Amino acid sequence: MIDPFGRTISYLRVSVTDRCDFRCVYCMAEHMTFLPKAEVLSLEELDRLCSAFIGLGVRKLRLTGGEPLVRKNVMELFRALGRHLKSGALEELTVTTNGSQLGKHADELASLGVKRVNVSIDTLDPKKFTEITRWGKLDTVLDGVRAAKEAGLKVKINTVALKGVNDGEVDSLVEWAGREGHDLTFIEVMPMGDIGGENRLDQYLPISLLRANMARRWTLEETSERTGGPARYVRLKETGQRVGFITPLTHNFCESCNRVRVTCTGMLYMCLGQEDSADLRAPLRASESDAPLIAAIEEAIGRKPKGHDFMIDRRHQGPAVGRHMSVTGG
Ligand code: SAM
Repeated sequence: MIDPFGRTISYLRVSVTDRCDFRCVYCMAEHMTFLPKAEVLSLEELDRLCSAFIGLGVRKLRLTGGEPLVRKNVMELFRALGRHLKSGALEELTVTTNGSQLGKHADELASLGVKRVNVSIDTLDPKKFTEITRWGKLDTVLDGVRAAKEAGLKVKINTVALKGVNDGEVDSLVEWAGREGHDLTFIEVMPMGDIGGENRLDQYLPISLLRANMARRWTLEETSERTGGPARYVRLKETGQRVGFITPLTHNFCESCNRVRVTCTGMLYMCLGQEDSADLRAPLRASESDAPLIAAIEEAIGRKPKGHDFMIDRRHQGPAVGRHMSVTGG
């Protein structure tokens, strides 16, 4: 699949549920209305959809959400998709999780061919953790991360930079990740979805500031390392550790975008930060043949936009796109 700007689309992220057992303050409002079951693709439909994309050249597949590991019987989907790893059609199957269920599933994920997991942790302070996630327990998540490591999974920690919340913890997060052997990436908060009374400008901490603070303690060496994603990496001279930065607001990373996203209702979004989408559920449900589905995917890739235009300032405090990150999957 090649888009109008010549970018090869080889990476698919699929949100397998809009539900989550956390309510992170920058992600969701406390009281969310979730989708009725009939609207959400079944595990069999998700398998068919992912397999169609793999047939069209997707080499990396990430399951996300909502919280993917709270979806009932989700391991059946991992098991089914594992066949594409065995056949070599798929290079990598990964998951982005809040870690709350990792303790239960880490061994099985590893046995099914998953090699890496992304775990979202914004603070190592248990009290703050519960404040940010509203419903989460840091201990459970850290147990999950330990289980993943013991199962042989490579763990990457994703930390959303939050002004006045975790800006004082950058060094301790870096030290902890370094000690445990986890990669660490800091992410700027993106203006997605209505989050109730919270104000984006209050949350927004430019990564440039966070980096400047890090540079007081560590020597940051620029690297040209790229993993095909939006992160830019530095190496800490003192420890050799790699730290990533994802800066959708201060630096636009769209020129090398190789990915598209599908929601749990089968809406294909060609860009995280734009509203244009294509309904894949209708062709999926209309026919046992994959031909209409494949035609819909190919037509939509032909409409992939050049990039997003996220912005947060005094005049732009509302969401750039109406849907929450939990809908399209982070
Ligand atoms: N539940 C899983 C998790 O916690 O990783 C997967 C879904 S979650 C939506 C994926 C990632 O998106 C998390 O790292 C979360 O912190 C991040 N995220 C959610 N809303 C965001 C926002 N408005 N800006 C930046 N990152 C956001």
